[in-house]
Amino acid sequence: MTQTATAIEALKKQLGSSLCIAGHHYQHDAVIRHCDITGDSLELARRVAAIDAQHIVFCGVHFMAESAALLARAGQQVHLPAEDAHCVMAQMTPASLVRAVLMRLHTAGKKIVPLAYVNTPVAVKAVVGEFGGAVCTSANATAMLRWAFEQGDSVLFLPDANLGRNTARALGLNEAACMTLNIRKQGEAFPLAEALQKQLLLWPGCCAVHAKIHAEHIAALRLAHPQAHIVVHPECAPDVVAAADGAGSTTYLINAVRQAPQGSTIAVGTECSLVDRLRREYAQQCTVLPVRRIQCSDMAKCTEEKLLATLQQVQNNTAPCITVPKAQQQSAKVALERMLDVCARAGE
Ligand code: SF4
Repeated sequence: MTQTATAIEALKKQLGSSLCIAGHHYQHDAVIRHCDITGDSLELARRVAAIDAQHIVFCGVHFMAESAALLARAGQQVHLPAEDAHCVMAQMTPASLVRAVLMRLHTAGKKIVPLAYVNTPVAVKAVVGEFGGAVCTSANATAMLRWAFEQGDSVLFLPDANLGRNTARALGLNEAACMTLNIRKQGEAFPLAEALQKQLLLWPGCCAVHAKIHAEHIAALRLAHPQAHIVVHPECAPDVVAAADGAGSTTYLINAVRQAPQGSTIAVGTECSLVDRLRREYAQQCTVLPVRRIQCSDMAKCTEEKLLATLQQVQNNTAPCITVPKAQQQSAKVALERMLDVCARAGE
């Protein structure tokens, strides 16, 4: 163990049950090994809601810590070791622009239900809650999109157009029923009459990691490893998902490796910190390959050193907290809780 790792473990012991360290699967091994709970966005949202610890140190990016702060109980504090770790995709949805687009869509009297991927700032979740919408994750996008269609005339899915389109395809919606919005000119650039004819409107956002995985990478893998089973994350483009053997959330990808037959080869299209960890953990069972090696630079901002510094601040009562403005709390919480309720009812 490094000196930093030893110091972290010592502080964890001292802080005892007042501390819980949560980590997203895309964190480095050096950080993940100190986490009390790990998971994808959905698992973490669910588990954070049940944590008793006074301090929740969230190893991930900003929107995740904000969701944790939203679900935290009175007196609980959420800390983010890398305060500058912002998900690129989440930043593609300024709340004021989301509101302007929804207002314009609603002028015609149709009920457009917003469905926000969890990778959005809390201010956007609040707007979505206000407009009768909900949050979703890649693990429950299908159930949540089905729910959203039942709530109104059509759905605005944001910010990841790939996840929206892949989920729509899984539900049997054809391309003609979908439209990616041009959000320029403060949301005035897209043709309103055409948009109102569509069942699914997509925000033009994407993940900086998964958008870099292309169908050619799958084709090259098939040539080099014809026996490989290929699974990708649904934030990849639809042609990538179509070329792969399966697509699903981070948890789906982990389970695909866990269940890979002895001696098989499996290629995983997602962030490489997770793929590298799976390769090491399942080396005795199967060969795990990355579809393409891409690291999320924001997830990588949380280092073991920053985690140690945050724990020291927690001990000294000087750790900065992630807070949610009062005006956004209620609506954002409603949007998040709608997701948790729908999933609980659907058994997802
Ligand atoms: S992997 Fe993509 S979606 Fe996840 S934090 Fe990084 S940029 Fe955001």
